Amino acid sequence: RAELLLHFQPLVEVGSGQIIAAEALLRWQHPQLGVVAPADFIPLAEETGLIVPIGEWVLRQACEQHRAWRASGHGRLRMMVNLSARQLRDEGFVDMVSRVLADTAMPAGQLTLELTESMLMEGSGCTVEVLERLRTLGVRLAIDDFGTGYSSLAYLKRFPIDELKIDRLFIRDIERNSGDAAIAEAIVKLGHSLGLRVVAEGVESAAQFAILSAHGCDFAQGYHFGRPVAAAAFPLPD
Ligand code: C2E
Ligand code: MG
Ligand code: MG
Repeated sequence: RAELLLHFQPLVEVGSGQIIAAEALLRWQHPQLGVVAPADFIPLAEETGLIVPIGEWVLRQACEQHRAWRASGHGRLRMMVNLSARQLRDEGFVDMVSRVLADTAMPAGQLTLELTESMLMEGSGCTVEVLERLRTLGVRLAIDDFGTGYSSLAYLKRFPIDELKIDRLFIRDIERNSGDAAIAEAIVKLGHSLGLRVVAEGVESAAQFAILSAHGCDFAQGYHFGRPVAAAAFPLPD
């Protein structure tokens, strides 16, 4: 019923403070309920399998938005899209991604697909193959919510990952909780020593940002820089 829409949240480069990417976040604009958050309907969409066509719609919509931004001179912006485990298991998944990239003339290197640790753990050998094929298309891969899943470090070398996104849980109390600060710092170091770029999620204050900056975190995302908003309200870089 055309009730789904995407919001976009900026990611900034820590060094320059420039907006370098947008993460596409799904919303359901329900006629009676209002805006429904993804946590309230994605689990059900996964259960029923509807996440497969919804996920294709999200990817296509995000790539179309990127095309519009390219046309208005914002070609350097990157786009991040979340995946669900169910999509990764779908046989036609890589072909679908390839088709959407072609249809929207999307530069593959500017698309990052976000996976979670549990998606990597659930997967058998075929997950590695799917991720390798995505990498062959030129798409980048990120682990979302890093540190809250199974955190088997073995998969960091086994899977072709480009980026780690430190979960908001470790950022929230980073100023007060020395344990959280130590974990965030360790994830940045671990990522860098494996040649990965590290993103901090859920940065809400200048003080949190300063700590992450001191730890050498590459990118940051959170309400401090901008909430998820409709494309028309996205703070495009100059
Ligand atoms: P995520 O990918 O980890 O997205 C980050 C979530 O944190 C978003 O919630 C965002 O609005 C919220 N957030 C960002 N910055 C801050 C902050 O500074 N403080 C706080 N408190 N929250 C912040 P949202 O949009 O409700 O999305 C929740 C989750 O739903 C996402 O987590 C992602 O796992 C999933 N999701 C969203 N869109 C899609 C989609 O298109 N496909 C799939 N499979 N999953 C999606
Ligand atoms: Mg995400
Ligand atoms: Mg996350």
